[in-house]
Amino acid sequence: MQRVLPSDEIARSVAQPIPRLRLPDRAAVFTRRAARLDQLATDHPLSGYLRLMAALVRAQQAVLDALPPSSVADDELARAAAHRMPVLPVNDHRRHREWQAVLAQLCERLAISADLPPAWADLLLRLRQMPAAALDEQADSLLVGRMERVDPATAPFLMAALQVCWTSLAAALDAARIAPLDVPGVCPVCGSLPVASIVRGDGHRYLHCALCAAEWHLVRAKCSHCDAVEGVAYRFIEQLAGGVRAETCDHCGVYRKILLQEKDQQVEAVADDLASVALDVLVGEAGYHRASANPLLWPSAEG
Ligand SMILES: [Zn+2]
Ligand SMILES: [Zn+2]
Repeated sequence: MQRVLPSDEIARSVAQPIPRLRLPDRAAVFTRRAARLDQLATDHPLSGYLRLMAALVRAQQAVLDALPPSSVADDELARAAAHRMPVLPVNDHRRHREWQAVLAQLCERLAISADLPPAWADLLLRLRQMPAAALDEQADSLLVGRMERVDPATAPFLMAALQVCWTSLAAALDAARIAPLDVPGVCPVCGSLPVASIVRGDGHRYLHCALCAAEWHLVRAKCSHCDAVEGVAYRFIEQLAGGVRAETCDHCGVYRKILLQEKDQQVEAVADDLASVALDVLVGEAGYHRASANPLLWPSAEG
């Protein structure tokens, strides 16, 4: 339902245009996500997994903090804006060679944490022994969504390393220099799909990029996958934190979560989406398909 704005709020929103793009806060993006995962893990049926992912996300922040600040060249920005193309395209990760070094640092930090389950120790060893070409191939499959070639066990770690690199670059951008794309459903910074959307405290809805953590504005009551306005509905489970809804679309048969900050100030797109898998089950049983994966949970190919 549309919220009726008081007249002074209307005047303010006319005076101040809606920020089209919100870039990630390099100093806090993963710290906030880890804290939210820990918070949601309390009394949660998947608390073990959520706490492990919180450890991975905390390691992401530590590795990001230790990286030198990124920069994006002026001519790349100008070229992307002129062609209305993402400035940090996902299919260009080979240019960002450091992603494998970041992965090694993530594995190192996790390996020394005291309460690491034995299964993870094996997984980290496997990741460290994977040849560079095989890692690049897995990254390719993850970034372009070739799900049948993704290994669900290693995917969250590879994705975590790629997120660190892209978030570092995205945080160095100036939002005013990023042109909107012709396709509203993909990230204007990197061209990836959003993990979920968040209605911020000011009532505006933003899609949250699963890779670079940029957020871009999209009007509400519209399918974030196919742009349809008819046949969009919301389903939810009363007990879930954060005002998590599934926005279902009868036009394309797809759903994506939408989080309401007014219900819970702490909502975080990746964490709240992950912790609300019960809602995925409910909506899946009703016949809708998930629009795109959570970067920390990849379905197995046969699933
Ligand atoms: Zn992005
Ligand atoms: Zn749709």
